Amino acid sequence: MENVLVVGAGMAGLQTVLGLRELGYAGRVALLGAERHRPYDRPPLSKDVLSGKTDDTTFDADWAALDVELLLGRPATGLRLRDRAEGGFVDTDAGPVEFDRLVIATGSRAINLPAAGDVHGVHVLRTIDDARALRTALVPGAHVVIVGAGWIGAEVATAATAAGCHTTVVEALSAPLAGALPAEIGARFTPWYAEAGVELLLGARVDRIEPGAVHLADGARLPADAIVVGIGVRPDTAWLAGSGVHLDGRGAVVVDGRLRTSAPGVYAVGDCTVFESARYATRLHVEHWDNALQAPRALAAHLLGEDAAYDPVPYFWSEQFGRMVQYVGHHPAGDDVVMRHGPEGTWTAGWFAGDALVALLTVARPRDLAQGRRLVQTGAAVDKAKFADAGVPMKSTVR
Ligand SMILES: Cc1cc2nc3c(=O)[nH]c(=O)nc-3n(C[C@H](O)[C@H](O)[C@H](O)COP(=O)(O)OP(=O)(O)OC[C@H]3O[C@@H](n4cnc5c(N)ncnc54)[C@H](O)[C@@H]3O)c2cc1C
Repeated sequence: MENVLVVGAGMAGLQTVLGLRELGYAGRVALLGAERHRPYDRPPLSKDVLSGKTDDTTFDADWAALDVELLLGRPATGLRLRDRAEGGFVDTDAGPVEFDRLVIATGSRAINLPAAGDVHGVHVLRTIDDARALRTALVPGAHVVIVGAGWIGAEVATAATAAGCHTTVVEALSAPLAGALPAEIGARFTPWYAEAGVELLLGARVDRIEPGAVHLADGARLPADAIVVGIGVRPDTAWLAGSGVHLDGRGAVVVDGRLRTSAPGVYAVGDCTVFESARYATRLHVEHWDNALQAPRALAAHLLGEDAAYDPVPYFWSEQFGRMVQYVGHHPAGDDVVMRHGPEGTWTAGWFAGDALVALLTVARPRDLAQGRRLVQTGAAVDKAKFADAGVPMKSTVR
């Protein structure tokens, strides 16, 4: 392996480069990024940047020591693979970049409402530039309307209300997070909005957006100095169209358990992938930070000759309305959910398949998460009655 090109200078791209160098790869490596910024961390954008705690989330990296060719502000526009050999060219407006091995790490882009992109005062939150622009709009007394009560919507609402804005969250489904969690679990998040002084409108559909207002399908008009659309993301892979690299229906790059795409010598990591999980006997599409940290490490080892599969137990966290929310595992629909209520509104939900604990959601219970994570990872049989008793340490709930 001589000449590695990593496309996408985010978390997964940077971790690929770090992993290769740490494992001793001494050949050429180039990192091509659409944004003009050096790789930076996204989770703090909706937390510390919006709250004004920091303005810069650039990752610490010794670029000189890494000896990486950094090609920033240069979006990939296409991929041409060689016919009968590995390698090829990634096209950019400033000319093609040649590679022997390619790692695709172009992540996700935020979805906007139809035609909303051109309306003044409408924001999405994916990049540091988005976060800085939105922060200037979060001024005391401003009316902020957030579309979508998902992870991002809740974190933006937290920052907006803390900044003194009149904050309204509009959600089409019957509970917050209903796209990610069963409605009865999502409903447990509902009171947090009112407690924080945020108006949450459930079952509310946006009809149209105009400068200064959001119109709902029921005729209501919500005045809005700023409108934030937090309705999800899509893999940022349009540049791969026609390249021969196989994408799924959502546009995610399909990779196997070794993070190999359908094209020889081409790999993919992070948000933009859907990967084969032997553990769960399915393909997983994970749009969370931990996956963008772990998958590149596994890929670097694989590229340098180790034959280990990437088969993680997914993990993520969110910080909303002063609470740390953490999730580990993977729960197929229909599994049993057992609740564990702690003091002061803390709780943990456990998903079971038979006696095995397969996933955990914790609210301000980091010890449950740390101990439960091991139980989820090993598929341990757990006593549900003990699990339901928050006085029993999680590690002592094993049968
Ligand atoms: C505001 C916010 C808060 C978050 N909070 C949390 C959290 O609390 N917990 C959690 O687990 N996860 C969180 N996430 C998700 C987490 O940040 C992502 O899972 C992670 O960033 C994925 O890393 P990635 O490198 O795969 O993709 P990205 O971070 O999206 O990086 C991809 C990079 O590729 C670049 N790119 C795209 N197209 C091209 C192209 N054609 N050519 C060249 N470059 C291109 C993009 O500009 C980008 O820099 C949050 C995300 C956001 C936006």
